[in-house]
Amino acid sequence: MTDTNESLMAAARACCRQSHSPYSGIRVGAAIRAASGAVYLGTNVENAAYPLGNCAEVSAIAAGVQSEGAGFRIAELAVWATDRNGVAIAASPCGGCRQRIMELASGSFVAIHFPWQAGEIRTVTIGELLPFAFSLPSSQPPR
Ligand code: ZN
Repeated sequence: MTDTNESLMAAARACCRQSHSPYSGIRVGAAIRAASGAVYLGTNVENAAYPLGNCAEVSAIAAGVQSEGAGFRIAELAVWATDRNGVAIAASPCGGCRQRIMELASGSFVAIHFPWQAGEIRTVTIGELLPFAFSLPSSQPPR
């Protein structure tokens, strides 16, 4: 990983500690470097009505859109997660988040970093995470 990637992962790791996850105990942090260069953070927010909870990626995307409006685009994303004992766990973005990331990605080459098995940090493109992404006929697929 480059220095930029490592700083983005460090931001995701720090944000992970802010998680509101009383039900699963799984803390997740996400850090997005926007195409503008700004960094946006998000954490998971659980709710007793489980489907109402937010993934960390969703929270970070919301922060970016709130700040930059419709022009917000993702250039890079890092995710970090721990279990209820604070131990790092494997955590790639869920299916719903993959679709959200793809739709707001600055291109299908956007790098996604996440912890995988045995503490390995995986880096893949959003195109690799979500091949054959859904898009409306009127929308332009990411370049
Ligand atoms: Zn998700």
